[in-house]
Amino acid sequence: MDLLVVGGGPAGLATALHAARAGLDVAVWEQRAGTVDKACGEGLMPGAVTALGALGVHPPGHDLRGIRYIAGPRRVDADFAAGPGRGVRRTTLHAALRETVLAAGVRVEQRTARRVEQDEDGVSVDGTRAGHLVAADGLHSPIRRALGLDRPRRARPRHGLRRHYELVPWSDHVEVHWAPHAEAYVTPVAGDLVGVAVLTGARGSYDDHLAAFPELRERLAGALHAGPVRGAGPLRQDTSARTVGRVLLVGDAAGYVDALTGEGVALALAQAPAAVRAVINGDVAGYEREWRRLTRRYRWLTHALLGATRMPPARAALVPLAQRLPWLFAATVDALARPARQHQASGPSG
Ligand SMILES: Cc1cc2nc3c(=O)[nH]c(=O)nc-3n(C[C@H](O)[C@H](O)[C@H](O)COP(=O)(O)OP(=O)(O)OC[C@H]3O[C@@H](n4cnc5c(N)ncnc54)[C@H](O)[C@@H]3O)c2cc1C
Repeated sequence: MDLLVVGGGPAGLATALHAARAGLDVAVWEQRAGTVDKACGEGLMPGAVTALGALGVHPPGHDLRGIRYIAGPRRVDADFAAGPGRGVRRTTLHAALRETVLAAGVRVEQRTARRVEQDEDGVSVDGTRAGHLVAADGLHSPIRRALGLDRPRRARPRHGLRRHYELVPWSDHVEVHWAPHAEAYVTPVAGDLVGVAVLTGARGSYDDHLAAFPELRERLAGALHAGPVRGAGPLRQDTSARTVGRVLLVGDAAGYVDALTGEGVALALAQAPAAVRAVINGDVAGYEREWRRLTRRYRWLTHALLGATRMPPARAALVPLAQRLPWLFAATVDALARPARQHQASGPSG
């Protein structure tokens, strides 16, 4: 096998698809059975929609026109200049990706990877040999940890909680509601379904946090819950490197700052072809450079926003400032929307 991918989330499945289409013999190991759900805001930025479309993956959802920031009575919105994004339920996204991956002839096995060894010629995972290994095993990547690529965290941990409501969406913007200790991200994902994800560094249940958003709580009152609350975190994951030997980290496994800008899936989809290109070219170090380039704007912007909004006065000033400087808000939203540019636009094998 040329490439083993551990993790069957968006990063792993997109990597496998690029690899298969480039003619590599590739398999995916995913520890969970069937359609995989996950705590996520479920807003696909326009760049993610474009990248999925290029792979022939068109998950149904709800078009997103842009982003709206709300704090009490203040609100400001900006539309995506790069075309619409899409709110897509995680299970819908997973099913669409998985179906395309299987149709491309990739073997997807329900297996948990446990032990990784490597030598000059290849990688061995629990005794299965492959030329290279992509670890796309998520935020708390066990492979990253086992390979010693985890860096200790310094920041106060933030985490996310998400619930779906059976409601007709009232907006085609992703709404970000700001409260002193949490943000709520409202994403329409179907004609009768709205996802609400709360990001916070504070303790408490989903409903405790929702109490900080009275206007939103009123809108959601009485709506049926479609499924349980799902959580994820700590969100911030620092890594010392994205590659070691013949192993490449892709998606959240490669490091994560925060979900504040809703770009995780777009970034995973941008990293996938870069990793496959590195495998094909035998240039694993090239992936490290490409990863830095592809994620630079995300890392910079997310750190800046997180740092600023950690200070209560700056947090309170954010939405009024965005109202006063609409061009700055529009430019920021536009930056989020733009697809990450690959070095060789022609695909993984260049
Ligand atoms: C609250 C919250 C809100 C978010 N909102 C958004 C948003 O609005 N838009 C957006 O684009 N992104 C958002 N994100 C980020 C997005 O969810 C992630 O960036 C994305 O899921 C990363 O995909 P991945 O494939 O790297 O990881 P995952 O989707 O986590 O997939 C990793 C997979 O690896 C499997 N796995 C783990 N260990 C093993 C093992 N040992 N063997 C086999 N399989 C294994 C897991 O079961 C899992 O299926 C949000 C994240 C959070 C937490």
